[in-house]
Amino acid sequence: MRRILILGGTAEARALAARLAPRADLAVTLSLAGRTASPAPQPVPVRSGGFGGPEGLADYLTSARIDALIDATHPYAAAISANAVRAAQRAGVAFLALHRPPWQPIAGDQWIEVADAASAVAALGNAPRRVFVALGRNELAPFVQAPQHHYLIRSVDPVDPPLGVPHAAYITGRGPFEEADERALMVRWRIELVVSKNSGGEASYGKIAAARALGLPVIMLRRPAPPRAPSVATIDHVLAWLDHAETFSTTRGV
Ligand code: NAP
Repeated sequence: MRRILILGGTAEARALAARLAPRADLAVTLSLAGRTASPAPQPVPVRSGGFGGPEGLADYLTSARIDALIDATHPYAAAISANAVRAAQRAGVAFLALHRPPWQPIAGDQWIEVADAASAVAALGNAPRRVFVALGRNELAPFVQAPQHHYLIRSVDPVDPPLGVPHAAYITGRGPFEEADERALMVRWRIELVVSKNSGGEASYGKIAAARALGLPVIMLRRPAPPRAPSVATIDHVLAWLDHAETFSTTRGV
């Protein structure tokens, strides 16, 4: 029996867990940061909350006798991804990252790529605009610097306390979001600009397709650079890696 720890908080992590759950040769645990008030149900046992840096994660890997660590966190969750690589090395545990490829702009897209949320705010310009902000609630602070805009802010959990700007409306929602619904939302709120991360995958692409259809620019936050470590883009590749004879050959206890 191999013990697998998946670092999750994404649709991919849940889908991977669902593929692994029926296997009698694997004992799978999924780890969540514990940020969302009512997380989606998972098909395997869940542990929740930070580990206490790379050292804490390495200690967890050792004490829980984990054989393989799979980082299936969101591509913008840079701290846990860096910690995961270091912890796996430290604990001598096999490691693989599962990260969905970024979206690529296609004809009709008007993307303005920026480094981070503060740069996104600068890119909005001085004139008041109506802006759909599709970022996490922990990434909103820089928007206070540009109170002239009207913001429509969507997050999984409510933004509490609300942002210190005079014109902001808040909606909550968890993907997947269909293009037609996103388009209707943008029309209803008379949106002129969208601020987004390049998350990749299907679940949140609807807003990108809707912006294209409506001729709206998207201010796209660039992805943080991933750590230098083995990485794949699909669940099938993770399964192949787990079943590869050499995956566990250099790890602790073998
Ligand atoms: P982050 O900045 O990379 O991580 C901050 C700290 O949160 C980590 O150092 C770790 O604490 C803890 N942590 C993060 N993910 C964890 C996990 N899966 N299990 C246990 N602890 C975890 O992460 P983030 O960007 O805040 O994202 C937090 C979670 O939300 C992740 O699970 C991610 O997959 C999910 N998520 C993030 C985004 C995004 O845009 N960033 C979007 C959708 C979902 P310790 O150092 O104490 O271990």
